[in-house]
Amino acid sequence: MAGLQLRSVDKTYPNGFKAVHGIDLDIEDGEFMVLVGPSGCAKSTTLRMIAGLETITGGEVKIGDTIVNDLAPGKRGIAMVFQNYALYPHMKVTRNLDFGLRLKRRPKDEIARATSEVSHTLEIEELLDRLPKELSGGQAQRVAVGRALIKSPEVFLFDEPLSNLDAKLRASMRVRITDLHKRLKEEGRSATVVYVTHDQVEAMTMGDRICVMKDGNIMQVADPVTLYQKPANAFVGGFIGMPEMNLAAATLSLEDDGKIRMGDQVIAVEPELARRLTHAGGAITFGIRPQHLELVEPGTPNAFEGVVKIVEFMGHEVNLHVDIEGNSFICVVTSDHFDRATKAGDRLSFHPIARSIHVFDRKTGLNASLGE
Ligand code: ADP
Repeated sequence: MAGLQLRSVDKTYPNGFKAVHGIDLDIEDGEFMVLVGPSGCAKSTTLRMIAGLETITGGEVKIGDTIVNDLAPGKRGIAMVFQNYALYPHMKVTRNLDFGLRLKRRPKDEIARATSEVSHTLEIEELLDRLPKELSGGQAQRVAVGRALIKSPEVFLFDEPLSNLDAKLRASMRVRITDLHKRLKEEGRSATVVYVTHDQVEAMTMGDRICVMKDGNIMQVADPVTLYQKPANAFVGGFIGMPEMNLAAATLSLEDDGKIRMGDQVIAVEPELARRLTHAGGAITFGIRPQHLELVEPGTPNAFEGVVKIVEFMGHEVNLHVDIEGNSFICVVTSDHFDRATKAGDRLSFHPIARSIHVFDRKTGLNASLGE
């Protein structure tokens, strides 16, 4: 049983570049934690420090009760799955799976039992006699997961394991991995997972909790629903959610219950939002998700007017790309409620749903509309 603790962890690479800036993170025993963020935000560096593949240049990493800073990777009780699978090309799947156990000189019957169990769990029994080059991408990834699973590690580390797969396969592998984590828990073999991805859909669908990173710092750690509904700052607001949250420079005045001004247009702050905006005011970044802009009749109060630029028919939904006071906004409407005659150049009105409006401090980026 092992949780993980990162305390003031720093990474400065030998060339002097500081990639990680004193991060603190607690991962509970048995938890599925996703590290997500744009390319270069130091997700892999953080994971590799946990794995022991990169030195830790400051702070402490604890796995279970042990500080592992100076412990060799093989002694940390972890198993890692890489993006490129890292299978041994000249060994059949069986040998790839049991390589670690043979190296440890485990008894033959134990190795056979473990191999059979793992290949059954991952449905790769038919592949045991194949070489890696005879596997599809999805099959190779399952073997790579099997090779980690066979070690019965306390901590699984995944580094972008699905990014080489096509979209359909990625979706099914996502489910396999979360299902595997759940089954291990049910069988009393619960494993802690740290999973790195740049894909926010993977993060949202797989993580018990998600740690959003930017430039070597942690921006927020929370469960998927909290991240979506209560982003701590404009970065998290913009990163989580599809299409992206609309963000635009605006000003908030707190007179007359409050007004939000974007360019030449002003909407009144509705009481629901006013209650949460006790200490904002001045230069803000106004944030509203595309799904939370309601298409309303022209002249409806508390709506912004915009000009349609592009109409994207997505099937169940339509994405309207509009220009509101020089800002590019997206509004998602369900196709059933959409006037098919709508075209580029039309002027439409959009009401931001008060309970879903985010007000970020323009300077600090912090979400001022979270309330108590
Ligand atoms: P991510 O996994 O989020 O894409 P990385 O952890 O790979 O990011 O990299 C974080 C930052 O550290 C990037 O700016 C990257 O260029 C830099 N970096 C990674 N490896 C090295 C290295 N060996 N030497 C110097 N800088 C590095």
